[in-house]
Amino acid sequence: MPKINPSTPLINQAIALYGGTFDPIHYGHLRPVEALSGLIGLKEVIWLPNNIPPHRPQPEASSQQRLEMVRLALEPYSSFTVDTRELEKPTPSYTIETLRDFRKEIGDKQPLAFIIGQDSLLSINTWHQWEDLLEVCHLLVCARPGYQTHFDSAQMQKWLTKHQTHQQEDIHCLPAGKIFLADTPLYNISATDIRARHKAGLDCHDLLPNSVEDYIRQQQLYK
Ligand code: ATP
Repeated sequence: MPKINPSTPLINQAIALYGGTFDPIHYGHLRPVEALSGLIGLKEVIWLPNNIPPHRPQPEASSQQRLEMVRLALEPYSSFTVDTRELEKPTPSYTIETLRDFRKEIGDKQPLAFIIGQDSLLSINTWHQWEDLLEVCHLLVCARPGYQTHFDSAQMQKWLTKHQTHQQEDIHCLPAGKIFLADTPLYNISATDIRARHKAGLDCHDLLPNSVEDYIRQQQLYK
């Protein structure tokens, strides 16, 4: 029998990325990803605030303000970090391009996962080059209230069934190619609703961290 060198890990540790507009970041982002991290055993989640293409509705907060809110919200979490590459690019980037950038940096064998909410999964076939996503990464999907767990389209459901795994170890053992639907806690929170609540002068303290709420007030955002 070959000897196992104790310093050689039996499985790799997946690198996980979480992209979003974060206008603003809220508990509907933080809590499900925190639960997912525990469930899958993720050592680090890299948060990626998006740069929005000019032809799409622009965020109300500037890139700098969205980044600052993400930094404030992630402060208590030692395993959550921010990557500013999309915000620093002069042009907006598609998710697939960002993932390919990471893939180039980490090599072909390292497991890489991209975290999304259930609503994003249901519209994934509208993403640029979506069919290539699973060649580059796994998809880890957080539950979101109000969104069904299956596709209406038989073709998309077939795609999901083909790639879905129920084994969280797959995410650490394989470099890419799997979809894991995680039974994360449900938070009926959206950034759209938080912006509307601020406009209406309503309290949002239960929906996002105090540090972010204080920043919104100090910067007079979402008036
Ligand atoms: P908006 O209301 O402005 O569209 P949002 O609250 O949906 O924003 P985004 O920054 O656009 O937040 O979303 C980033 C990611 O977070 C997406 O993959 C989305 O599916 C996920 N997400 C957002 N809110 C929730 C939630 N309450 N539960 C689970 N996932 C969520």
